[in-house]
Amino acid sequence: MKKIFLSIDGNTAAGLASYSFTEIAGIFPITPSSPMAELVDVYASQGKLNYFGEVVKVVEMQSEGGAAGTVHGALQAGALATTYTASQGLLLMIPNIYKWVGELLPAVLHVSARSLATRSLSIFGDHQDVYAIRQTGITMLCSHSVQEVADLTAVAHLIAIDSSMPMCHFFDGFRTSHEIQKVEMVHAEDWRRQIPMDKVAAFRKRALNPHCHPVTRGGAENDDIYFQGREAQNRKFDETIEIAEKYLRIASELTGREYGLFTYYGRQDACDVIVAMGSVTEVTKEVIDALPSRKLGLLKVHLYRPFSIKHFIDALPKTVKRIAVLDRTKEGGALGEPLYLDVVAALRQAERNIQVYGGRYGLSSKDMQPKDIKAVYDFLKDKPRHNFTVGINDDVTHLSIPVCDFQIENEYKSCLFYGLGSDGTVSANKSSIKIIGEATNKYAQAYFAYDSRKAGGVTRSHLRFGNNPIRSTYYVKNADFISCSLDSYIFKFDILQNLKVGGTFLLNTSVKPKQIKSMLPDRVKCQLAQKKAKFYIINANAVAQELGMGRHTNTILQASFFKLANIIPLNSAIEYMKKYAEKSYSKKGPEVVQMNYKAIDAGVDPELLREIKVEPCWKKLEINHVKELTGDDYFDNYVMEVGALRGDDLPVSSFLKGELLDGTMENNITFKEKRNIADRVPKWHKENCIQCNVCSFVCPHATIRPFLLDEAELMAAPKMIGDDYLKPLGGPNVADYKYRIQVSPMNCVGCSLCVTECLGNKIPGKTALEMVDAEGETKEEVLADYLYQHVSVKPNTFPTTTIKGVSFLKPYMEVSGACAGCGETPYYRLLSQLFGDDLMIANATGCSSIYSGSTPLTPFVKDRSGKGIAWANSLFEDNAEFGFGMRMAVNQHLATIKRIFESVLGCRDLEEELEDLVRDYLANIKNRGFTAKIRDRLVRLIENSCCEGIKEVLPFKDDLVDKSVWIVGGDGW
Ligand code: SF4
Repeated sequence: MKKIFLSIDGNTAAGLASYSFTEIAGIFPITPSSPMAELVDVYASQGKLNYFGEVVKVVEMQSEGGAAGTVHGALQAGALATTYTASQGLLLMIPNIYKWVGELLPAVLHVSARSLATRSLSIFGDHQDVYAIRQTGITMLCSHSVQEVADLTAVAHLIAIDSSMPMCHFFDGFRTSHEIQKVEMVHAEDWRRQIPMDKVAAFRKRALNPHCHPVTRGGAENDDIYFQGREAQNRKFDETIEIAEKYLRIASELTGREYGLFTYYGRQDACDVIVAMGSVTEVTKEVIDALPSRKLGLLKVHLYRPFSIKHFIDALPKTVKRIAVLDRTKEGGALGEPLYLDVVAALRQAERNIQVYGGRYGLSSKDMQPKDIKAVYDFLKDKPRHNFTVGINDDVTHLSIPVCDFQIENEYKSCLFYGLGSDGTVSANKSSIKIIGEATNKYAQAYFAYDSRKAGGVTRSHLRFGNNPIRSTYYVKNADFISCSLDSYIFKFDILQNLKVGGTFLLNTSVKPKQIKSMLPDRVKCQLAQKKAKFYIINANAVAQELGMGRHTNTILQASFFKLANIIPLNSAIEYMKKYAEKSYSKKGPEVVQMNYKAIDAGVDPELLREIKVEPCWKKLEINHVKELTGDDYFDNYVMEVGALRGDDLPVSSFLKGELLDGTMENNITFKEKRNIADRVPKWHKENCIQCNVCSFVCPHATIRPFLLDEAELMAAPKMIGDDYLKPLGGPNVADYKYRIQVSPMNCVGCSLCVTECLGNKIPGKTALEMVDAEGETKEEVLADYLYQHVSVKPNTFPTTTIKGVSFLKPYMEVSGACAGCGETPYYRLLSQLFGDDLMIANATGCSSIYSGSTPLTPFVKDRSGKGIAWANSLFEDNAEFGFGMRMAVNQHLATIKRIFESVLGCRDLEEELEDLVRDYLANIKNRGFTAKIRDRLVRLIENSCCEGIKEVLPFKDDLVDKSVWIVGGDGW
C-alpha cells in the first residue's frame, strides 16, 4: 500500500488520530493544546465519521473542570469520550481524573505539556503539568516527536479501551505540539482493525442505563472498606502494562519504528545512559550518533504510568554504570524530580547497582542544544553529582554543569527567519514547509519562536530541509540562510551570529542599494565579511504597497527565499507557490490571486532582489560593542538584555535583584524601549487640526497625545518645536497655553487608527493627520520624550467628562504589547487616565494579561509623585475572586484605620486640629479625592501628636486613601 506523508504539527497529528476513536469530546481551550480540540470541532462540523460510523459530538464547556466532568458523565453513560488540555487546565481536571481511574473508565486525555504559572505565567513547554497528575493512577503515555504523536495517539485510545482505564497521552508543548514535521501516517483502516470491539461492547454494557443496567455508582464509603477497595484495583495496573506492551508492539509492526514501554537507543555496551521523556530524546539520539566511539545510550520512557520495573530493567544494557535522569520540571524542596525518583526506586527494587544522578533541563521550552546533551554525558563521566541543572548559568546555588561548544554537522539545510509579529513571516514559512514537504521527497521541519507580545514582537522561524527525517529538536544555530524582514532589527539583535560560513543573508529594507553600505552597522559588515556571506536586499514594503497588499510582505520575501536558499529548483518553487496562492485566495476573487502572483514574481525579480557585494576589507572593521546605557541597572542589564534576545544568557543571580525573585516588574519601562517597529507613522498638520483630540482618544498605545504648554514649558522644550503649535480652541483658562499634538514615532506601531478617525481629516480637502514614512519622523522622538514626561496636565481647562478633556490627562498605561489597532487597549488606557493614580487591577490570563504583563515589559507607569497602577494576574479563571480578595484587604485596612480613629476621638491628648481633621476624614472615608487631599497633613499631625493611641494608624498611612479595584478579564472586561 502507498505510504501517506503529511506535513503537520504534533497537535494536528493528535487531533487527526483521536477523532476517529472519539464519540464525545468535552473541550475547553488552553494554549498550546487548543488546536487539537479545534481540529476535532472542524472535522465534526464537516461531518467526518469516526471509526464507529458517527460524527463526533463536540461540546465546549465553561472551564477545564467542566470539560472533565462532561467526559466523566459521557463515559458513565457509555460513550467513548476524549478531552485535550495543558497546564492549569490539566490541574483543574485532577478531581475528575481520580474519578475516571476509580470507576475504571476509558477516558482519553491528550496533553501538550506546559509550564505552570508560578512566579510568572509561561505558556511554553515542560512537564510540570503532567507530573502533577501522576499520583491519580491514570495511565500515562509519552510521545517524543511529531512522528511519535502520529504513531501513538491511536495506541493511547486502544490501550484505554482494552484496559478500561483512563489514559493521558502527552507530548512537549510547542516543541512537539507546534513543530511542523513531514510524518508518515498509518492507514486509518489498519488502526480501525485493532479496536477490541468486544471491549467496546463490554464498556457500553457496563454503562448506567435505567432500562437494562439500573445500578448506583460513586457512593460514599467509610473507614471500614475504602482502603481495601482501592487496593483491590491493583491488578488493573498490572494488566494495563501487558495491554500497553501489546499495542506498542502492534505500533512497531504497523510503522516500522521501534516502540516499547521503554525504548533503548545507543551502544549495547553503554556505560553512560540518559533516561528521559519527550523531545529531548531526539537531540540525544543525534549526540549519540555523533560520538560513536563513546559508550553512550538513551532510555526513552513511553509508558510512564504504570511504571514497569521489569521492562525498565530489561531495556537497559547490562554494562550501564551511570545514569543521568533528565526531568523537564522543578519540584521545589524535593529530594529529586519525579522520573529520577522512579528510576532510583526501580533500580533499588531490581537490586541493580548503578549510580543515578537527577538533573533538570528545558523548563518552559528552554532550548536544548547538542552541546547541552554532550555536557550531561561528559559530566556523568567526570565528577557527577545529583541535582544538577543544564542549559542555564546558576551562579547562586551552583547546580548548573559546564557546557562547552559542540555542534553536529547534519546533511540538511537550515534556515532562520526574523519577522515582526503579525507581518506574515510565520504563515509564509508554514506554506513553504507544506510546499516542500508535500510536493517533493524532501523532509522538512519548522519551529516558530515568538516573544509574548500579541503583535509587533520578534518572531523567529527555524526551518530545516533534508533527504532524511530530521531529529534536531532545537533552534537553528548554524544557518545556511537567514532572512530579516525588518531592517531596524540589525541594530537591535545579533542576527548574523547564527549564519554559517558561506551562508546567505536577505534583508528587507527601504534603503536603496547605493546607500545600504553606509547604513549597515560595522558589526554586521564585519560578520558578513568574516563569514564570506552572500548578501541580498529587497524593498518588499514598497512592492507590497504598490501591489495593494499593505504591510504584507510575506509572499514577496517567500519567493526571494526560494530563489536564494536553493532548496528546490526555482521554476518548480514558483509553480508550487502560485498553486498554493490560488488554493488559498481563490475564494477572495481573481484579483487577489493575481496580486499574489505578482508578489511572487517581484520576489525573484533581479531588478528588485539585489545582491550587495560583501567587501573582504570589512573583516577588519572595528566593532564597537559599547551598549547605550541609561544608568538604570534594571533597565540596562535586565530589560534590554531580554529585549535584545539575550535572556538565555542571564545568570540565576540576575533574578535576585530588586523584587525580581517573586516576579515583580518595575513600571515606566515600555516607553523607554523605543521599539521602532512602524515603517509608517502619523504626521500632524497643525493648520488643519480642529483640536478634537479624537486621535489620542482612539490610540491603543498612547503614542499620540495632545498637550497644553505654558510659557515655561515652551521655553524649556527642544528647539525643534519651533512654532509648531496652536492657540487652544474653546475651554476656560487656556489663553496662556499653546496646543500641540505629539506623536512618539519610535513607540508608535503604525496602526493608523488615529488617521482613520481624525475629525480634521473628515473635512473635504483637509488633512490634519497623515501616515508618512517613519524614517523621516524619528527625530521627533526627542520632542515626544520631553512633552510626554515634562509637560503637566493643566487643571480647570477642559472637562474630563469629554473626549477632548480626558485626552489631556496623563495615561498611566502606554506602549503596551497589544496588537496594532487593538480595540481593547484604548479602554484600558482611558481607565488609567481617569483613575490611574489609585487603581488596583486583578487581571485574568489572556490577551490583556499578555499585553499588560509580558515580563519585563509592563506598560504601566507611575507619576512624579510615585503613584500609579498596581496590577497583578492570578490565573485564567479566578480574576473575580482575586480582585475580591484585593477589595477585602483594602476594606480591612480602612476598617482598622476607622477603628483606631474612632477609639481616640474625645481623648484628652488629641489635639483639636487633628481631631477636626480625623472627624472630616471619617465622614469622607470613601471619598478618594477628599482623603487624598488631606492625607499628607493628617500623617504629619499624627506623627507630631501627643496622643499615642492615634499613632497606631501610622503603619497604615499608605492605606489612608481608598483604592479603586478593578477586575479585568483575560480577553476583555
Ligand atoms: Fe487634530 Fe485630527 Fe487629532 Fe482631532 S484627531 S486633534 S483634528 S489631529
